[in-house]
Amino acid sequence: MLGVNVWRGVLGVDRATVIESIEEDQEGAVVARVRPRRDSKRRCGRCGARASRYDRGEGRRRWRTLDLGTVRCYLESDAPRVDCPEHGPTVAQVPWARHDAGHTFAFDDQAAWLVTHTAKSTLCELLRIAWRTVGAIIDRVVADGRAAHDPFDGLERIGLDEISYKKGHRYLTIAVDHDTGRLIWAAVGKTKQTLEGFFDLVGQERCKQIRLVSADAAEWIADVVHERCENATLCTDGFHVVQWATDALDQVRREVWNQARRAGMREHAQELKGSRFALWKNPEDLTERQEAKLAWIAKVNARLFRAYMLKEQLRAIIRLKGPDAIRMLTAWLAWASRSKLPAFVELARKIRKNRPGIEAALTHKLSNALIESTNTKIRVLHRMAFGFKKPEHLIALALLDRGGYCPPLPGRTTAKATHG
Ligand SMILES: [Zn+2]
Repeated sequence: MLGVNVWRGVLGVDRATVIESIEEDQEGAVVARVRPRRDSKRRCGRCGARASRYDRGEGRRRWRTLDLGTVRCYLESDAPRVDCPEHGPTVAQVPWARHDAGHTFAFDDQAAWLVTHTAKSTLCELLRIAWRTVGAIIDRVVADGRAAHDPFDGLERIGLDEISYKKGHRYLTIAVDHDTGRLIWAAVGKTKQTLEGFFDLVGQERCKQIRLVSADAAEWIADVVHERCENATLCTDGFHVVQWATDALDQVRREVWNQARRAGMREHAQELKGSRFALWKNPEDLTERQEAKLAWIAKVNARLFRAYMLKEQLRAIIRLKGPDAIRMLTAWLAWASRSKLPAFVELARKIRKNRPGIEAALTHKLSNALIESTNTKIRVLHRMAFGFKKPEHLIALALLDRGGYCPPLPGRTTAKATHG
């Protein structure tokens, strides 16, 4: 005979749960009849406060828990209501599941872990649940995590960004903590009000502790930051500066391609068209073919190659940081201004305009990688979140994955660190 501790492990419950019996129902599922231990009884399902019994609620209820091998398994128990001094008649708390959930903690945690580690279809097939159920699960796992640990405590260096999803029709504004590497907040929209909502949550006192804020050069962000964070230096995020240079390079590439096409140099134009990725990629990531492509550009198209060198030089400066980088930036600006490439002359102007913020980022050595990777990951997650009706689920998914709220698998004590 298996002891009760083994059964607790099998069902994914702890010592606060009393197992009364384990049976099979008519559909062949395993049903464990359970009840809360005496000291976990009669607590409000919403706040956990002790409360007197109100009525028997809607009688017996079932919660799905982890499968037993190939068989579905449920916990079954009474679900009486208590009369909470604050919340009134509320279904009593149970030690094996979140309030209002149809699944146990163990099941929720397994689903939340899988959502950040595997494909959507794999998860739904394996757990035999619909994707919208997954949305509800991650909402409550993240809400629970945020209630247990305030993500806005001790903020000193933060990054703000706007991320487009749905092909630029919809936006999220996000906040990251440069010190923990975590996503700490996200909301739909990209207006002053959206961002003010964030600083409202952080609160006046904690806003005063914020020393550095990195963002792109958007004025609406700068305005709100100046207003709310009196002690913060605003830095222009290096990731965006490199992106401006990549855009300028692309403009030059299109220009020389059009010139070649108009001049009837069909083959040359074709080769130029195929050079996009070689020009975009960081030199250390180039394939042999792409390296050959670059060598070809250096030989046959001086303008495009100059644009490439300008972009790469700027990227190196942003990556280097510190006083040397600031000196090199001055030289770069002179070079770009007399490059005879309108896109880079324009870029030099933009960089001069934003120079205080860019130099602040170089001085304070803020990493660009965090905003960049968060930005990329949210786009990936958006594809995954397709099928969720509400953007709130995308936000919960992003926080679960990038905010450090992914729980360990049930029964394991530590989560395998996959990020942050
Ligand atoms: Zn309550």
